[in-house]
Amino acid sequence: MNLIIKNGRIIDPSTDRDEVANLYVVDGRISAEAPVGEHETIDANRQIVAPGLVDLHVHLREPGQSHKETIETGTRAAAAGGFTSVICMPNTEPPADNPTTIAWITDRARESASVNVFPTGAITKGLKGKEMAPIGSMVQAGIVAITDDGHCVQSHEVMRRAVEYARMFDVAVMDHCQDYNMVGAGVMHEGYWSTVLGLAGWPRTAEEIIVTRNILLAELCETRIHCQHLTSGGSVRLLRDARARGIPVTAEICPHHIALTDECLATFDSNYKMNPPLRAQKDIDQLVEGVADGTITFLASDHAPHAYFEKEVEFDLAPFGILGLETELAVFLTILVHRTKAIDIKRLITMYTVNPATLVRLPKGTLDPGADADITIIDPDLEWTFRKEESFSHSRNTPFDGWELKGRAIRTIVAGKTVWSL
Ligand SMILES: [Zn+2]
Repeated sequence: MNLIIKNGRIIDPSTDRDEVANLYVVDGRISAEAPVGEHETIDANRQIVAPGLVDLHVHLREPGQSHKETIETGTRAAAAGGFTSVICMPNTEPPADNPTTIAWITDRARESASVNVFPTGAITKGLKGKEMAPIGSMVQAGIVAITDDGHCVQSHEVMRRAVEYARMFDVAVMDHCQDYNMVGAGVMHEGYWSTVLGLAGWPRTAEEIIVTRNILLAELCETRIHCQHLTSGGSVRLLRDARARGIPVTAEICPHHIALTDECLATFDSNYKMNPPLRAQKDIDQLVEGVADGTITFLASDHAPHAYFEKEVEFDLAPFGILGLETELAVFLTILVHRTKAIDIKRLITMYTVNPATLVRLPKGTLDPGADADITIIDPDLEWTFRKEESFSHSRNTPFDGWELKGRAIRTIVAGKTVWSL
């Protein structure tokens, strides 16, 4: 667990550091001094040495859905994507809406995970949106946030009380923004393509209404609310205005929502079916603009594995969701840094390190001496092709098979130990 990482470009936004230097690890922690005695040396010449990346939005599927993914396979995929910490969602079976299930997840992670796993707890019992889950005791069991992800609390009053509870315990509230009345039986974005394909759609307004609700509640309760996986250009506009007024509301975007449009569904391939759905090119343009101007400050995968037999059915019946952990960094580097130049690599690293660590109050996302030596080494210019057969996930539901991408993590280090390298 003693390391010298030589000659890399160290980018650590938490301390505004950007320089070519050596990075030292002693006993699994970042050190200001080189290790004395036995150590491993890694040459990082022309590569970026960043704090270990944190994915704020991952479905590890355990307990209860290990035919889709397990904590072991999901965290191996995370390591291969450059992630040293993942925040996992509570829509498991049973749902993570109580301290016992949270403890089970934490124990299972201790036995089988290759990266750090931080669980979230449900906002409401059974993710049903009616009765609040025991937030305080779940905090004691180790949750870092509450969310009903996969579902959305429709009652504004229940949501308000949950936000007030979360404020007492200083845990983040994260929300999958979706008004059920407007979603109905929708399976994709409502627009030209839903009409052409004869599939039921739901409009971007269904997201914007709940984003508006969350802005109003963040203002009322004076505490942070994080909007998960935004897709609508209109949501970006609402958020920009709210943030300019100092309201503590934040948002993430996922790679597929800026890499793909609803036109992809013309193939009826269920690997383009996700919730929230792929939208139109104008939404993509506004999401990218929102990243560029600092309205959107988080990137995440919404890694959502499903078994082949579940996805390989009639489009209407297929479950929502796709893999993400092994492609997200490369897709974002390709689109946001290389192609559109919306942000530079330092901003991208900020959105994957200090920002999520701050939101959920984790002592991660930093290379400050004393911190856990969670490190991601990135080759920002490496050109490679993603092959789903090579994935570490237990599932294969990805629309990015065969994609040519630019930039990739080449080594992932957790507490000084290499857990994956190219
Ligand atoms: Zn969701």
